[in-house]
Amino acid sequence: YLPVVVIVGRPNVGKSTLFNRLAGRRHALVADTPGVTRDRKDAVAMLRGRKVRLIDTAGLEEAAPESLYGRMRASSEMAVAHADLVLFCIDARSGITPADQHFANWLRRQGRPVLLIANKTEGRAGAAAAMEAYSLGLGSPLSISAEHGEGIADLMGEIADRV
Ligand code: GDP
Ligand code: MG
Repeated sequence: YLPVVVIVGRPNVGKSTLFNRLAGRRHALVADTPGVTRDRKDAVAMLRGRKVRLIDTAGLEEAAPESLYGRMRASSEMAVAHADLVLFCIDARSGITPADQHFANWLRRQGRPVLLIANKTEGRAGAAAAMEAYSLGLGSPLSISAEHGEGIADLMGEIADRV
């Protein structure tokens, strides 16, 4: 049995980028094909000497706006139910959106341990959104840049400590 770490959040916040960064190598992410729902991705990752099963949730990118919330939930429900730790990602560049708020409210009711992650904070960007993220009621956000690798070592340590 490996601790299960699930990456969730609305489309485009950088979940798959973070997944690849934590998994340590390009993980068979099939080139994006328009109209094709991408499957959830699994990988075994070694984080600060702690082996975990990492799950990327996806397949929401083409959802119609009116069904977005429902589909976010459907895609994440199973994964979150079995999670030892949930990485809830927001995009610090776009700020907190109603979808983030909605998802956070649902997530708080699931009773799983959550780590709040403010992504896309490279350079000086995202400080305001990282502050704003406190209002989600999921603790203090950890600022990272999945694309540039900033804050990833700290995040790995935090995950290893909590699973
Ligand atoms: P997902 O839909 O949540 O899986 O998001 P993706 O991982 O597919 O990323 C969505 C977009 O955000 C892509 O264009 C990424 O290159 C971009 N992105 C991901 N992480 C970062 C980051 O740390 N900084 C910036 N500026 N862009 C990022
Ligand atoms: Mg993705």
